Amino acid sequence: MDFIRQKITDDIKANKNNGKVLTRFPPEPNGYLHIGHAKSICLNFGVARDFNGLCNLRFDDTNPTKEEEEYVLSIKDAVRWLGFDWENREFYASDYFEQLYSFAVKLIEKGKAYVCDLSAEDIRSYRGTLTEAGKESPYRNRSVAESLKHFSEMREGKYKEGEKVLRAKIDMSSGNINMRDPVIYRILFAHHHRTKDKWCIYPMYDFAHALSDSIEGITHSLCTLEFEDHRPLYDWILDELSVPCHPQQIEFARLNLNYTVMSKRKLLYLVQSGLVNGWDDPRLPTIAGMKKRGYPPEAIRKFCETIGIAKRENVVDIQLLEYCVREELNKKAQRVMGVLRPLKVIITNYPQGHSEELDAVNNPEDPASGTRKVPFSRIIYIEQDDFLENPPKDYFRLSLGKEVRLRYAYFIKCEKALKDETTGRIKELHCTYDPLTKGGNAPDGRKVKGTIHWVAEPTSIEGEARLYDRLFDMENPSEISDDAFASSINKKSLENIFSCRFEPFLKKAKAGEVYQLERLGYFCVDSSSTETKIVLNRTVTLKDTWAKIAQKNK
Ligand code: ATP
Ligand code: MG
Repeated sequence: MDFIRQKITDDIKANKNNGKVLTRFPPEPNGYLHIGHAKSICLNFGVARDFNGLCNLRFDDTNPTKEEEEYVLSIKDAVRWLGFDWENREFYASDYFEQLYSFAVKLIEKGKAYVCDLSAEDIRSYRGTLTEAGKESPYRNRSVAESLKHFSEMREGKYKEGEKVLRAKIDMSSGNINMRDPVIYRILFAHHHRTKDKWCIYPMYDFAHALSDSIEGITHSLCTLEFEDHRPLYDWILDELSVPCHPQQIEFARLNLNYTVMSKRKLLYLVQSGLVNGWDDPRLPTIAGMKKRGYPPEAIRKFCETIGIAKRENVVDIQLLEYCVREELNKKAQRVMGVLRPLKVIITNYPQGHSEELDAVNNPEDPASGTRKVPFSRIIYIEQDDFLENPPKDYFRLSLGKEVRLRYAYFIKCEKALKDETTGRIKELHCTYDPLTKGGNAPDGRKVKGTIHWVAEPTSIEGEARLYDRLFDMENPSEISDDAFASSINKKSLENIFSCRFEPFLKKAKAGEVYQLERLGYFCVDSSSTETKIVLNRTVTLKDTWAKIAQKNK
């Protein structure tokens, strides 16, 4: 059991909050969610589930300049897709603006907040440093009546942005900089996606967050470690206002993953600059991207469970996520055959005009999934790199005079390779087959070392495959400077292959389904697919070839 669940167990034993548990997931709608958020979602909803409690979805929409409706919708999609349900508990900090305003007034009345006229720059320089105490604002001791009047005028729009702010009156010499009279309200003439133009003052995060938690009756407010230093402020606000509900803030380490970036600012830059194709680009660590790529939500949940909850920051290897994806897909994915880069093969001794159907296993991991018929014919396609004219010794696929097994079909032997006269590239193979090897075994007991996949030409469907590689080929791209960021993208992170051929089973494939193309990896059907033209996004390769390649390139 992780330390958070341990703490909650103790609270329940002590009958704290009458044994109730209510958590919340509080995204700011200023971007799409990413795998780091998935960790927080799994934790907050998971804790609620484990302790018979509930989890709210709350939008922390206190910064109108960066927030949008599109993000709200994408966040709801992502949480739902991950498998969690907030039922009717969809809340917005902006719904509490009136209440938050009253709380601010109450603080002023108590002499615990004041309107300050210092400029942002002065506030910063008065704040002091880690080693130096701050300096008190000359407005700190302005009367309650005066602060009340100015605050009300701020709301009425009498002042310009930056002219005045509301600050909590705490302690300018506190060792914790967050406690040095933090700003709790600022003037912002911005259109809010929900409250429209009703407000021109907006609460700051710490103030809005603590009070939103309290208003909703949250019992445990789980957040990432960088908020540890904000906890005294969180507690101060709730104590000074003597609210009936004072949630317990508990911090945990955020998820960091290698080979990717998770800062919303950087993700937004990648999207806006067109370096990727939108927020759901399958190369991004966004939930929308992972969905489009074919990662099953179960795999993401399993990943979050495996990494666990800790108090110390670390970097998780992205291969663990890919491992979870493979594990899940291996259990569930229907196997099919497809050829990404087709090479035509004519089976010269196969009767002209003849065809037949062979039995293929749908999923060896799931016997209940049965078998299907795969058409076979005189002309088939194999993968270009499954034939080599001058093979090295340990090459077990097709070459002149050699015999291989066609998966679920026959042994074939290559007799002749025809070349394109101008390019010199191999354009067609002539092979013979052994009719006695139907199903893949020779009655005389002779063995072949290689088994390759194939697709029968007449019944095949055309399509496109998109192969993804890491968007950054360096381990810690979050350390790249802003100047070098765009040029650090892996230029080969997306490869489109247009003339693929797939077995006809894929005709009825639906967008979002994931198939295993034998020997090639797992592929997710893109929403742009049609019955006559399939578009597949490669979710993940079958084995982790990447570590080896990276090693070789070093
Ligand atoms: P910003 O940098 O804009 O504050 P954020 O990633 O904190 O971005 P929020 O929308 O505020 O974005 O995050 C919602 C919740 O998800 C917060 O409770 C936050 O702590 C949590 N969260 C964000 N990133 C991670 C991460 N990498 N690992 C775990 N939890 C995260
Ligand atoms: Mg945040």
